[in-house]
Amino acid sequence: MRLFDTMSRIERDLHPIDGSTFRFYACGPTVYGPAHIGNFRTFVLQDVLRRTLETGGTRTLHVRNLTDVDDKTIRDSQKAGQSLSDFTRGWTEKFHADCAALGLLPPHIEPSAVEHIPQQIAMIETLIEKGNAYASDDGSVYFKISSYPGYGGLSRLDQRELELGKTQNSRSSSDEYEKDSLSDFVLWKSRRPEDGENFWQSPWGEGRPGWHLECSAMIREYLGESFDLHSGGVDLIFPHHENEIAQSQCACGGHFAAHWFHIAHLLVDGGKMSKSLGNLYTLADLAAKGHSAMEVRYVLIGAHYRKPLNFTLDSLAGAREALAKLAKGARQLAAKIPPDTRLTRADFGPFQAAWDSLSHDLNTPGALGGLFTGLREAVTLSGEDAAAALAGFNRILRALGLSLPEEVQEIIPPAIQALADARWQARIAKNWAESDSLRAELAAQGWAMQDGKDHYTLTRES
Ligand code: AMP
Ligand code: ZN
Repeated sequence: MRLFDTMSRIERDLHPIDGSTFRFYACGPTVYGPAHIGNFRTFVLQDVLRRTLETGGTRTLHVRNLTDVDDKTIRDSQKAGQSLSDFTRGWTEKFHADCAALGLLPPHIEPSAVEHIPQQIAMIETLIEKGNAYASDDGSVYFKISSYPGYGGLSRLDQRELELGKTQNSRSSSDEYEKDSLSDFVLWKSRRPEDGENFWQSPWGEGRPGWHLECSAMIREYLGESFDLHSGGVDLIFPHHENEIAQSQCACGGHFAAHWFHIAHLLVDGGKMSKSLGNLYTLADLAAKGHSAMEVRYVLIGAHYRKPLNFTLDSLAGAREALAKLAKGARQLAAKIPPDTRLTRADFGPFQAAWDSLSHDLNTPGALGGLFTGLREAVTLSGEDAAAALAGFNRILRALGLSLPEEVQEIIPPAIQALADARWQARIAKNWAESDSLRAELAAQGWAMQDGKDHYTLTRES
């Protein structure tokens, strides 16, 4: 399969370096609250990449970490009055439940930063020995970016930014910063009062690791110096992945990641999601509005991963309809297959185009389109041809990680929903004339409304 590589900026073939298993790393969640659907766009696309490789017959080794110590986890555990480990354990469990609902395959290895403190300290010691890092007076340790000539290669920092970083000779103790404040970044943060009980002993005194270091240390532990692919959302290109490359190449040599897979952001209402704008959605928020995790997954794979995806609630209604249509098509196709049919082939049949889309830069919208066009052809087939088509259809579904609803749920068009809501409000206000006239309007459009004590149900009249 071919996939765009952020480092070389071209599409390249994916082949396991060791000739057998495709070994890849994905930066995982910071477990200090519920993951939002933007985070899940990235995790779902990584899951589709893995499933596509596996569907094509390639074995994978998937490592995804948990960031369970940083400024945010410490701050919010204290607010919650919990120990850091109790706090992050709770959010990790919620994250796992969301992943399961979305049909994400669990990574083969899921290491956490707190469980790898000695490995991180060892890496810092190596970096100091090799002249790539230095301790400051307060017991913090920084990576010296001018010591690594390759710095800036992934994010293509321009000369101006690089010069600025080298000549400014500044240091940043925060984990997140912009290109304009390029600086030596922190590997070890000396203990501060606000860290509370969250500190570890090190050769430089009490403190804790900086965020960028954990991934380099865990990659070294589980994937070695060279591995097949590294991944995250586009916001991680700079500075996180740039810093990982610098740390790992200076400490270990090797090639680090052979391929870089970055997923463009999910936007809501055309902009960034944020709590203050009230447009930050979690799976629980959407479940409360009646939307299943599978509908969310469908929306998340509905755009190509290199393009920003604008999320709207309407797109979820569309996803429900699309999943129901696929389920109906699959049932029609299954009905064409006599019970004693023997399947002797393993091609994609009418779903070859869907497979080609996935194999070519993980074109998920192309694959979804291919499912619908493939079904139109497939339902004209019979016998073994129909059986082969259904097997091909199911392989594409598995690669996309979609499961179809058993029962096709009734889709309520938004205009009907609005009429029903208006009638319910009229009824609550004891405005009987309005209520009756809205009920009649619904009936004219083929919908019946049954009133309960504190809710109503809508059914289509046959
Ligand atoms: P975090 O929990 O903040 O460390 O993020 C986990 C993953 O979600 C990282 O790979 C981020 O790059 C990714 N991510 C964060 N926000 C978005 C977004 N709006 N759209 C897509 N991916 C995102
Ligand atoms: Zn990382």
